[in-house]
Amino acid sequence: MATTVFEVEKVNALKPLEGKVAIVTGASRGIGAEIAKVLARNGATVVGTYNNSPKHIQDVAKVIEEEGGKFRVIQADVAKFDDTERLASEVVENFGKIDILINNAGITKDRTFRKISKEEWDAVINVNLNGVFNATKAVIKHMLDQNYGRIVSISSIVGQAGAFGQTNYAATKAGILGFTKSLALETASKGITVNAVCPGYIATEMVAAMPKEVLDNIIAKVPMKRLGTPAEVAQAVLFLVQADYVTGQAIAVNGGLYM
Ligand code: NAP
Repeated sequence: MATTVFEVEKVNALKPLEGKVAIVTGASRGIGAEIAKVLARNGATVVGTYNNSPKHIQDVAKVIEEEGGKFRVIQADVAKFDDTERLASEVVENFGKIDILINNAGITKDRTFRKISKEEWDAVINVNLNGVFNATKAVIKHMLDQNYGRIVSISSIVGQAGAFGQTNYAATKAGILGFTKSLALETASKGITVNAVCPGYIATEMVAAMPKEVLDNIIAKVPMKRLGTPAEVAQAVLFLVQADYVTGQAIAVNGGLYM
């Protein structure tokens, strides 16, 4: 049966990111894995990166491929500038461009400030904040050349409100918010939007690592009385990569915990 123009338009409406090439850092687990799936479901060609979890990212690849999505895996430690340069070059060589960057990779090394070591401070800064610099620096020239780009970085409620035992993590997540607004100003006239998402407490391995009584206390304070899901964070990312007139913003996905 011949495909009518109407049918072609209908297909594209169902897959609004068809033709777009996206990088999601830290797509092997948790929030990043879900963002990769959602972008692929919406038609994007997704390059998902991992650092230490090759098996987990293969599981993500299997799900996306079974759903008919387009997914490529590349190993890259975002804390290493050369890795992110290699990542961007490989994506451009293979797919011709980079339209979307999701800076998701992140770690915690929680300790009260009195006890935190220089190594624990540096490790979190290197992945969570320098990683955002490295990946963004690697892709921005390609976005500027094509006058189009969507950059979304995963910050945190902790960057807005602070958290006991997380000076290192909070500094990186607040840093992402300042970075986002400044880069948004620099690129607003070049077709590039730069935004952040601030999740509250989301059910992933990162949160599972928290002591149960601490987590129970947090959930009791969440107006919605539950943890968020990675899919709920991915919804906000999906909105931001499609929004043309939204830049320099931070969308909170936190069940009302911080307003
Ligand atoms: P997660 O389950 O621990 O997953 C972390 C992801 O980051 C993994 O895919 C991991 O890859 C990757 N990663 C870690 N270090 C990396 C490095 N050096 N280079 C490249 N990738 C690296 O964490 P999550 O809960 O999904 O968190 C994802 C993001 O959301 C983080 O930025 C986190 O700070 C933020 N966030 C989470 C919550 C929450 O409640 N869960 C709340 C607010 C913000 P490998 O396993 O392959 O190493």
